[in-house]
Amino acid sequence: MSSQDNHKLCMIPGPVEFHEDVLTSMSTPATSHVSPSFIPVFGESIELLRKLFLTEKGQPFIVSGSGTLGWDMVSSNLVEPDEDALVLNTGYFGDSFAECLKVYGANVVEVKAEIGEATTLQEVSDALSTKSFKVITITHVDTSTGVLADVKGISEVVKKQSPNTLIIVDGVCSVGCEEIRFDEWGIDVALTASQKAIGVPPGLSILVASERAIQVFKNRKAPIPSYYASWAHWLPIMNAYESRKGMYFATPPVQLIYALNTSLKQITSIPLETRFEQHKKASNFIKNTVESLGLKFVPKHREAAANGMTAVYYPDGIQPADLLQKVASYNVVIAGGLHRAIATKYFRIGHMGISVTEPERKHLDNVIQALTSSLKELGYSGK
Ligand SMILES: *Cc1c(COP(=O)(O)O)cnc(C)c1O
Repeated sequence: MSSQDNHKLCMIPGPVEFHEDVLTSMSTPATSHVSPSFIPVFGESIELLRKLFLTEKGQPFIVSGSGTLGWDMVSSNLVEPDEDALVLNTGYFGDSFAECLKVYGANVVEVKAEIGEATTLQEVSDALSTKSFKVITITHVDTSTGVLADVKGISEVVKKQSPNTLIIVDGVCSVGCEEIRFDEWGIDVALTASQKAIGVPPGLSILVASERAIQVFKNRKAPIPSYYASWAHWLPIMNAYESRKGMYFATPPVQLIYALNTSLKQITSIPLETRFEQHKKASNFIKNTVESLGLKFVPKHREAAANGMTAVYYPDGIQPADLLQKVASYNVVIAGGLHRAIATKYFRIGHMGISVTEPERKHLDNVIQALTSSLKELGYSGK
């Protein structure tokens, strides 16, 4: 572990801590993106993504960019100008997805949940009865509130009431730590990024599209209002690499794909059910401890709270900067608030990836210890 010895433990909701083998696999010499040594690594990574998303026939995309690029891909490839989009908004990332859809000309209707609340199935049903929506977007975990959406339940409502509506899941803070079943739940697009629960440095936009979504893309009438995000460019690239042929549209981030390959092999080497359970257990440990300190969560209900992160209100009298700095003095980094309406009132702890699956690293204990000691030093005496 020597290469990572002197860094502050990064316990934020992404980037998460990286496994040494993931980092080592990135330090390859300059390698052509069409070299015989790289092509199978890219091809296999595409295949491994199907395992991670639990899909047989979904079409993975691995594109240089961040999670945000996934919104642009959805908005530009699947929605035509003036079509209707329903956005289930449980925080900052719902606002942003809505904004992105509007940039490409969609008519956006938002169902906004109160801070800390999830969208109810009744609200989804009511909204669906007003119009025929081309897409519905769900933020699986809104990283600004730590609220977990009931993707399975929402999907059932959509299938029953509006079966043609494409179901889009922003899984940037969920894929790899929350239960998500692409085929079984009938998801049309799930998108994520490398640096969250997948445990790879930032720089990859990762997305899976259903066969139905690909058909909708192929049948669209309006031109695709994007050059870089266009699936017309990326689909042939993904197909080529999967059939172990090199092809060029825009240079792929070779080293990041080596890292992704290593991480996906690690993740899929145990059943995903085990991984989901590990994250639930870790989340309960963090949340129970935080609760025992007398602190309050941003999510109002435990069953609608994320398992890969925890959002917590500062206790009275504690200044945001003070707590984050104190915790950093214990060599642990946690994150401040992000939701615009309450940004200075809460902090966030990430607990995803190797921090959860490799308990011998003691990351969870370290963050709890740093938090507890910091609060005490700042004069907070508990409930
Ligand atoms: C982090 C995050 C994003 C944005 O991803 P970037 O990689 O920062 O572009 C989008 N949605 C959710 C839910 C996120 O947590």
